[in-house]
Amino acid sequence: MNRRDFMIAGAATLGAGLLTPSIAGAHTNDYWVRDRSLWLRRQETGDEFRVTYWSGGQVDYNNYVRLCYILRDQQKAETVMMDVNLLNLLYGAQYWQELLLGKPTPWIITSGFRTDATNRKEKGDENSEHKNAKAADVKHDTYTPQQVAQMFGFFGMGGVGVYPTFTHGDTGRVRFWDGSKPRRR
Ligand SMILES: [Zn+2]
Repeated sequence: MNRRDFMIAGAATLGAGLLTPSIAGAHTNDYWVRDRSLWLRRQETGDEFRVTYWSGGQVDYNNYVRLCYILRDQQKAETVMMDVNLLNLLYGAQYWQELLLGKPTPWIITSGFRTDATNRKEKGDENSEHKNAKAADVKHDTYTPQQVAQMFGFFGMGGVGVYPTFTHGDTGRVRFWDGSKPRRR
């Protein structure tokens, strides 16, 4: 079974609540016990941080704030405290990618927190989790939006939307949608 087949099989057969991808050769027991690092790059500005936001069983506040900055409402220059579980979702899939690719790779962030004004301007859904600091729209250089959606879905941590050029992940209700429909969440 090649990597792609494995991912698709994994996403199809494993349900929500299973938090540890079993990947051959990976020490998955420590998936959520080890320190958690995240590499985020903002598409519009190229700002990036690659930092450990969770260390010794707790949030590393200075690094957490750096990631919140990358996920800011860029149009309004407003940074808020993002849901830590959103970072955990991004970490889970990014660490998985690192195991598959054999090297760390960044998420390209196209949208994070949105103020009401920005959400309206972006034609976001009125109840968008972006407004609650619980959502991110991401791209990856190697994996397609569909593949990223399968990774997010594996963790069962919230909403997943597949768009033509990016994937939406959030920590609201667990749900899936096809983002080629007009409304953006
Ligand atoms: Zn979104």
